[in-house]
Amino acid sequence: MRRFGAAALLVVLAATGCARPELAAVPTPSGTPTPLKTPSPTPLRTPLKVTTPSDPITIDMTTGVVHNKLYTAGRVPVVRCALPRPRLTTTAGLVAYGNVLVDCMSRAWAPLVEKADAVQASVELIPYSARRPKATPACTDPPVSADAFYYFGGFTGKICFDTDLYLDSQDQEFNLVNFEQLIAHEYGHHVQYSVGILTLYDELMRGKSAAGQLEVMRRKELQASCLGAAFLGANKRTFALSGTRLRYWRYIVSHVGDEYSKVRDHGSRKNHSYWTTRAFTSTSPATCNTFTAPAARVS
Ligand SMILES: [Zn+2]
Repeated sequence: MRRFGAAALLVVLAATGCARPELAAVPTPSGTPTPLKTPSPTPLRTPLKVTTPSDPITIDMTTGVVHNKLYTAGRVPVVRCALPRPRLTTTAGLVAYGNVLVDCMSRAWAPLVEKADAVQASVELIPYSARRPKATPACTDPPVSADAFYYFGGFTGKICFDTDLYLDSQDQEFNLVNFEQLIAHEYGHHVQYSVGILTLYDELMRGKSAAGQLEVMRRKELQASCLGAAFLGANKRTFALSGTRLRYWRYIVSHVGDEYSKVRDHGSRKNHSYWTTRAFTSTSPATCNTFTAPAARVS
């Protein structure tokens, strides 16, 4: 998830020295570049299209992305989730709270992943500091201007997140919502991985121009945020996402965008806001098929 820029107020983190998109950044949820390391087996049944016996078997990879059964799996359920008192001022506190979030998300997404004929992979949350990335071998080489990134290896998804931003926050209420949004986005990538979208979407990149490939990347990133928002919307009571917190959340999702980056790989603020706010209301991945959306919706 890319850092998001904030044109105004809130936590000023300018001194962190991280390549932050202009302006004093506010914490951020946003899409993160998702460096895919070792492509590993996908827990998905790839649709096979057998033509005639004499023809080679054609595997239509893109079908698994564009027409994934996740889109018709129904709404994200409300799950029982006992959130501990957040203590986001230490790395241990961030990890403890983050692990509870991940557990809640795993239970919420499991039935939908199953309906998509896939098996939910396990996932691990790993903190790192952009100031000392070498200290955490599992999260080395973090993307520039990112607060977190997702990759998978073997049959496990890894969510690496930069603790610096959160530890430096001066508004714990905002920090909390920001952290929840970040984890929800990264977990969105884990859902994409579990149902096969993340491993098959490369096929959509094939033969495309650089601009065309960036568009595919934006579709992937906007979808991750969309899925995260569907979870948060379904479980908004648990997260007390109303009043001030909801205003913070709306502020955050409308300040995530490529306007704060040199690379057009995550989508505009306007489109990020569009996909997330819509999914927050629908609570369903049915409204997250960014892969069939018109280009203007993923610009
Ligand atoms: Zn992302």
